[in-house]
Amino acid sequence: MPEGDTLQRAAQRLQVLAGQRVQVETPHPRAAGKGLVERLDGRTLESVEAVGKNLLLRFEGGLVLRSHLRMIGRWRVEQRGARRTGRPWLVLRGDEHEAVLWNGPVLELGRDARRIAHLGPDILDSPPDLDVMLARLRGESSRAVGDALLDQRLVAGIGNLWKAEALWDARVSPWRAVADVSDEELRTILAAAHRLMKASVEGARPLRHVYRRAGRACHRCGAVIRSHPQGEAARTAYWCPGCQAGGREPKVPGTA
Ligand SMILES: [Zn+2]
Repeated sequence: MPEGDTLQRAAQRLQVLAGQRVQVETPHPRAAGKGLVERLDGRTLESVEAVGKNLLLRFEGGLVLRSHLRMIGRWRVEQRGARRTGRPWLVLRGDEHEAVLWNGPVLELGRDARRIAHLGPDILDSPPDLDVMLARLRGESSRAVGDALLDQRLVAGIGNLWKAEALWDARVSPWRAVADVSDEELRTILAAAHRLMKASVEGARPLRHVYRRAGRACHRCGAVIRSHPQGEAARTAYWCPGCQAGGREPKVPGTA
Protein backbone atom coordinates (compact mmCIF):
# COMPACT_ATOMS: atom_id res chain seq x y z
CA MET A 1 0.00 0.00 0.00
CA PRO A 2 1.55 3.31 -0.99
CA GLU A 3 1.74 5.58 2.05
CA GLY A 4 1.74 9.34 2.29
CA ASP A 5 5.48 9.56 1.77
CA THR A 6 5.27 7.55 -1.48
CA LEU A 7 2.56 9.89 -2.72
CA GLN A 8 4.65 12.89 -1.72
CA ARG A 9 7.51 11.62 -3.89
CA ALA A 10 5.11 11.03 -6.80
CA ALA A 11 3.84 14.60 -6.40
CA GLN A 12 7.43 15.86 -6.50
CA ARG A 13 8.10 13.99 -9.76
CA LEU A 14 4.92 15.33 -11.34
CA GLN A 15 5.97 18.93 -10.62
CA VAL A 16 7.78 18.98 -14.01
CA LEU A 17 4.35 19.24 -15.63
CA ALA A 18 2.94 21.99 -13.40
CA GLY A 19 2.13 25.17 -15.27
CA GLN A 20 1.88 23.38 -18.61
CA ARG A 21 -1.05 22.84 -20.91
CA VAL A 22 -1.41 19.04 -21.10
CA GLN A 23 -2.73 16.61 -23.64
CA VAL A 24 -4.83 13.97 -21.91
CA GLU A 25 -5.33 10.35 -22.94
CA THR A 26 -7.07 7.49 -21.16
CA PRO A 27 -5.89 4.32 -22.93
CA HIS A 28 -7.33 1.87 -20.39
CA PRO A 29 -10.99 0.99 -20.98
CA ARG A 30 -11.88 1.42 -17.30
CA ALA A 31 -10.61 4.99 -17.38
CA ALA A 32 -11.97 5.81 -20.83
CA GLY A 33 -15.56 5.98 -19.58
CA LYS A 34 -14.88 8.70 -17.03
CA GLY A 35 -15.06 11.63 -19.43
CA LEU A 36 -11.63 12.89 -18.41
CA VAL A 37 -10.34 13.58 -21.92
CA GLU A 38 -13.43 15.62 -22.73
CA ARG A 39 -13.09 17.73 -19.59
CA LEU A 40 -9.31 18.01 -19.13
CA ASP A 41 -7.56 17.80 -22.49
CA GLY A 42 -5.81 21.07 -23.33
CA ARG A 43 -6.20 22.57 -19.86
CA THR A 44 -3.26 23.86 -17.83
CA LEU A 45 -2.20 21.61 -14.95
CA GLU A 46 -1.81 24.20 -12.19
CA SER A 47 -0.48 22.12 -9.32
CA VAL A 48 0.08 18.62 -8.02
CA GLU A 49 -0.18 17.92 -4.32
CA ALA A 50 -0.14 14.82 -2.14
CA VAL A 51 -2.86 14.97 0.51
CA GLY A 52 -2.77 11.92 2.69
CA LYS A 53 -2.81 8.98 0.33
CA ASN A 54 -4.34 10.98 -2.49
CA LEU A 55 -2.69 12.82 -5.30
CA LEU A 56 -4.65 15.95 -6.15
CA LEU A 57 -4.06 17.41 -9.59
CA ARG A 58 -5.52 20.89 -9.98
CA PHE A 59 -6.41 22.08 -13.46
CA GLU A 60 -7.35 25.53 -14.67
CA GLY A 61 -11.00 26.29 -14.16
CA GLY A 62 -11.05 24.84 -10.64
CA LEU A 63 -11.18 21.18 -11.64
CA VAL A 64 -9.44 18.76 -9.28
CA LEU A 65 -8.55 15.22 -10.26
CA ARG A 66 -8.11 12.90 -7.29
CA SER A 67 -5.96 9.80 -7.76
CA HIS A 68 -5.82 7.20 -4.99
CA LEU A 69 -3.43 4.36 -5.71
CA ARG A 70 -4.73 1.63 -3.36
CA MET A 71 -2.37 -1.36 -3.51
CA ILE A 72 -1.41 -1.39 -7.16
CA GLY A 73 -1.45 2.08 -8.69
CA ARG A 74 1.77 3.77 -9.83
CA TRP A 75 2.57 7.18 -11.26
CA ARG A 76 5.60 7.41 -13.52
CA VAL A 77 7.11 10.42 -15.23
CA GLU A 78 8.78 9.70 -18.58
CA GLN A 79 10.17 11.62 -21.51
CA ARG A 80 7.46 12.73 -23.90
CA GLY A 81 6.85 10.04 -26.50
CA ALA A 82 8.53 7.25 -24.49
CA ARG A 83 7.62 3.82 -25.85
CA ARG A 84 5.54 1.61 -23.63
CA THR A 85 3.60 -1.60 -23.78
CA GLY A 86 0.25 -2.03 -22.06
CA ARG A 87 -2.54 0.41 -21.44
CA PRO A 88 -2.10 2.93 -18.65
CA TRP A 89 -5.15 4.57 -17.11
CA LEU A 90 -4.08 8.08 -17.79
CA VAL A 91 -1.39 9.94 -19.72
CA LEU A 92 -0.78 13.66 -19.16
CA ARG A 93 1.52 14.89 -21.88
CA GLY A 94 3.43 18.15 -21.42
CA ASP A 95 6.12 19.85 -23.47
CA GLU A 96 8.95 17.49 -22.61
CA HIS A 97 7.57 14.95 -20.18
CA GLU A 98 4.53 12.85 -19.70
CA ALA A 99 3.03 11.56 -16.47
CA VAL A 100 1.61 8.06 -16.74
CA LEU A 101 -0.77 6.43 -14.28
CA TRP A 102 -0.76 2.63 -14.25
CA ASN A 103 -3.54 0.61 -12.58
CA GLY A 104 -5.54 3.63 -11.53
CA PRO A 105 -8.09 2.18 -9.32
CA VAL A 106 -9.51 5.50 -8.03
CA LEU A 107 -9.78 8.51 -10.32
CA GLU A 108 -12.36 11.17 -9.58
CA LEU A 109 -12.85 14.56 -11.06
CA GLY A 110 -14.48 17.18 -8.89
CA ARG A 111 -14.18 20.72 -7.62
CA ASP A 112 -13.55 20.81 -3.87
CA ALA A 113 -10.39 18.86 -3.18
CA ARG A 114 -10.70 18.33 0.54
CA ARG A 115 -14.37 17.47 0.41
CA ILE A 116 -13.99 14.90 -2.35
CA ALA A 117 -11.17 13.29 -0.49
CA HIS A 118 -12.96 13.15 2.95
CA LEU A 119 -9.70 13.57 4.76
CA GLY A 120 -8.44 14.43 8.21
CA PRO A 121 -5.40 16.69 8.66
CA ASP A 122 -2.32 15.50 6.81
CA ILE A 123 0.43 13.91 8.93
CA LEU A 124 3.04 15.38 6.55
CA ASP A 125 1.92 19.00 7.05
CA SER A 126 4.62 21.18 8.64
CA PRO A 127 3.71 21.30 11.44
CA PRO A 128 0.93 18.69 11.46
CA ASP A 129 -2.32 19.82 13.10
CA LEU A 130 -2.05 17.55 16.14
CA ASP A 131 -4.91 19.26 18.00
CA VAL A 132 -7.45 18.44 15.29
CA MET A 133 -6.08 14.90 14.93
CA LEU A 134 -6.38 14.40 18.67
CA ALA A 135 -9.96 15.69 18.69
CA ARG A 136 -10.91 13.35 15.86
CA LEU A 137 -9.21 10.35 17.47
CA ARG A 138 -11.02 11.09 20.76
CA GLY A 139 -14.30 10.66 18.87
CA GLU A 140 -13.34 7.01 18.29
CA SER A 141 -12.63 6.18 21.92
CA SER A 142 -13.61 2.50 21.85
CA ARG A 143 -11.51 1.61 18.83
CA ALA A 144 -8.04 0.15 19.17
CA VAL A 145 -5.47 2.86 18.54
CA GLY A 146 -3.70 0.81 15.85
CA ASP A 147 -6.95 0.60 13.91
CA ALA A 148 -7.94 4.26 14.40
CA LEU A 149 -4.57 5.55 13.15
CA LEU A 150 -5.30 4.06 9.72
CA ASP A 151 -8.67 5.83 9.41
CA GLN A 152 -7.94 8.57 6.86
CA ARG A 153 -10.90 10.65 8.07
CA LEU A 154 -9.12 11.08 11.41
CA VAL A 155 -5.51 11.46 10.28
CA ALA A 156 -4.56 11.45 6.61
CA GLY A 157 -1.46 9.77 5.28
CA ILE A 158 -0.46 7.11 7.80
CA GLY A 159 -0.33 3.60 6.35
CA ASN A 160 0.34 0.25 7.91
CA LEU A 161 4.14 0.48 7.92
CA TRP A 162 4.49 3.86 9.62
CA LYS A 163 1.60 3.12 11.96
CA ALA A 164 3.50 0.09 13.26
CA GLU A 165 6.81 1.93 13.52
CA ALA A 166 5.33 5.04 15.16
CA LEU A 167 3.55 2.94 17.80
CA TRP A 168 6.78 1.07 18.55
CA ASP A 169 8.65 4.37 18.77
CA ALA A 170 6.11 5.67 21.29
CA ARG A 171 6.00 2.32 23.20
CA VAL A 172 2.23 2.06 22.75
CA SER A 173 0.46 -1.22 21.92
CA PRO A 174 -1.79 -1.10 18.84
CA TRP A 175 -4.34 -3.04 20.90
CA ARG A 176 -4.99 -0.38 23.53
CA ALA A 177 -8.34 1.40 23.14
CA VAL A 178 -8.05 5.08 22.16
CA ALA A 179 -9.83 5.92 25.46
CA ASP A 180 -6.95 4.32 27.40
CA VAL A 181 -4.20 6.21 25.57
CA SER A 182 -3.29 9.59 27.06
CA ASP A 183 -3.15 12.82 25.07
CA GLU A 184 0.59 12.89 25.63
CA GLU A 185 0.96 9.38 24.24
CA LEU A 186 -1.20 10.21 21.20
CA ARG A 187 0.93 13.28 20.52
CA THR A 188 4.09 11.20 20.83
CA ILE A 189 2.74 8.62 18.35
CA LEU A 190 1.66 11.28 15.83
CA ALA A 191 4.91 13.21 16.19
CA ALA A 192 6.86 9.98 15.60
CA ALA A 193 4.81 9.19 12.47
CA HIS A 194 5.44 12.72 11.19
CA ARG A 195 9.19 12.55 11.87
CA LEU A 196 9.67 9.07 10.35
CA MET A 197 7.58 9.82 7.27
CA LYS A 198 9.23 13.20 6.70
CA ALA A 199 12.64 11.50 6.80
CA SER A 200 11.38 8.95 4.29
CA VAL A 201 10.19 11.69 1.92
CA GLU A 202 13.68 13.13 2.12
CA GLY A 203 15.17 9.80 1.12
CA ALA A 204 16.19 8.25 4.45
CA ARG A 205 15.78 4.50 4.83
CA PRO A 206 15.30 4.13 8.56
CA LEU A 207 15.71 0.77 10.26
CA ARG A 208 12.41 -1.03 10.69
CA HIS A 209 11.80 -2.17 14.23
CA VAL A 210 8.54 -4.13 13.99
CA TYR A 211 7.01 -3.95 10.52
CA ARG A 212 7.32 -7.38 8.86
CA ARG A 213 9.60 -8.53 11.70
CA ALA A 214 7.20 -10.99 13.38
CA GLY A 215 9.09 -13.78 15.13
CA ARG A 216 12.27 -11.76 15.45
CA ALA A 217 13.77 -10.05 18.49
CA CYS A 218 12.83 -6.49 19.44
CA HIS A 219 15.78 -4.13 18.97
CA ARG A 220 14.90 -2.43 22.26
CA CYS A 221 13.94 -5.16 24.73
CA GLY A 222 14.66 -8.48 23.01
CA ALA A 223 11.08 -9.83 23.23
CA VAL A 224 9.70 -11.60 20.16
CA ILE A 225 7.80 -9.32 17.75
CA ARG A 226 4.23 -10.44 17.05
CA SER A 227 1.77 -9.84 14.22
CA HIS A 228 -2.01 -10.24 13.99
CA PRO A 229 -4.80 -8.89 11.76
CA GLN A 230 -6.54 -5.87 13.23
CA GLY A 231 -9.70 -3.88 12.56
CA GLU A 232 -12.45 -4.29 9.98
CA ALA A 233 -9.96 -4.21 7.12
CA ALA A 234 -7.84 -6.85 8.92
CA ARG A 235 -4.59 -5.03 8.23
CA THR A 236 -1.70 -6.79 9.94
CA ALA A 237 -0.55 -5.12 13.15
CA TYR A 238 3.08 -5.63 14.25
CA TRP A 239 4.16 -4.95 17.82
CA CYS A 240 6.53 -5.92 20.58
CA PRO A 241 4.63 -7.45 23.54
CA GLY A 242 7.61 -6.58 25.77
CA CYS A 243 7.86 -2.83 25.40
CA GLN A 244 4.42 -2.15 23.85
CA ALA A 245 2.33 -3.98 26.44
CA GLY A 246 -1.35 -3.64 27.26
CA GLY A 247 -4.71 -3.47 25.57
CA ARG A 248 -6.69 -6.37 24.24
CA GLU A 249 -3.72 -8.18 22.82
CA PRO A 250 -4.76 -11.31 20.90
CA LYS A 251 -3.77 -14.61 22.44
CA VAL A 252 -0.79 -16.45 21.07
CA PRO A 253 -2.18 -19.50 19.21
CA GLY A 254 -1.83 -22.67 21.26
CA THR A 255 -1.79 -20.97 24.68
CA ALA A 256 -4.59 -20.95 27.22
ZN1 LIG B 1 10.42 -4.51 22.75
